[in-house]
Amino acid sequence: MTQSNKPTAIITGGSRGIGRATCVTLAKQGWNICFSYVSNLAAAQETVALIEAAGGQALAIKANVANREDIKQLFAAAFKTYGRLDALINNAGIVGEPRSILDADDAHLTDFFRTNVLSYFFCISEAARLMSTQRGGKGGSIVNMSSAAARHGGMPEEAHYAASKGAIDSVTIALAKELAPHGIRINAVRPGLINTSIHDAHGGQALINKIAPTVPLGRAGMAEEVAEVITFLAGPLSSYMHGALVDVSGGR
Ligand code: NAP
Repeated sequence: MTQSNKPTAIITGGSRGIGRATCVTLAKQGWNICFSYVSNLAAAQETVALIEAAGGQALAIKANVANREDIKQLFAAAFKTYGRLDALINNAGIVGEPRSILDADDAHLTDFFRTNVLSYFFCISEAARLMSTQRGGKGGSIVNMSSAAARHGGMPEEAHYAASKGAIDSVTIALAKELAPHGIRINAVRPGLINTSIHDAHGGQALINKIAPTVPLGRAGMAEEVAEVITFLAGPLSSYMHGALVDVSGGR
């Protein structure tokens, strides 16, 4: 296996939305990209084309982050292709259907937390093993995708979503202590209302238009505005940032 002379990032859920914008922004900054998607092949192919148009190299892997075997294959494929891993962008996540706490059910909550929380543990574990300076790696950085919902509670009947992102905040703070001796920085971004298709199942553009005036900046954010912050946190310019929860929320 030859080792690329360019830094390499794995982005989970890179086929659409914030993940796609992050792939393109990192590629413009000279990173090799390996991203995952779960079902939307056409979107993944579009993202590959955008990365290549930005001068980057792209590897798209179908991998459900809720499935640990898929995650192992994602990391193996990236390492086989590029011979190195410098950053993990733990981005994939779902909002899921609104559900009252009065109707909470075991299967719904278990599946939801597997996708939004356990997957982050699994991906961090794989990345840390490859990047740890104590295991022969060269160190690296991890950026976790949280949400402003972790601190304001999110939309009605979406306590499960807010709680899943609160868990990501806690994981980021806790692992900052554990991963520092391994040469790995870890931070989280907490976007507010960002204009992506994640909102489609909850009213889409109408919902965005309703909430946008409540944002101090008066508008929803763009995926690219989050991607710039993620790219900064992934790279060496943020070398003294560690365990930080960075709001990208227009003041909301
Ligand atoms: P999005 O537009 O819906 O894109 C989601 C991406 O994640 C897609 O690439 C999708 O793949 C992938 N994905 C979904 N479930 C997956 C799974 N089980 N395994 C692997 N990939 C999976 O979402 P987004 O708005 O960019 O959100 C990205 C992250 O930001 C999420 O963690 C979300 O909670 C967080 N966030 C978003 C906002 C916002 O307002 N948009 C605000 C705060 C935080 P396919 O294309 O194959 O479906």
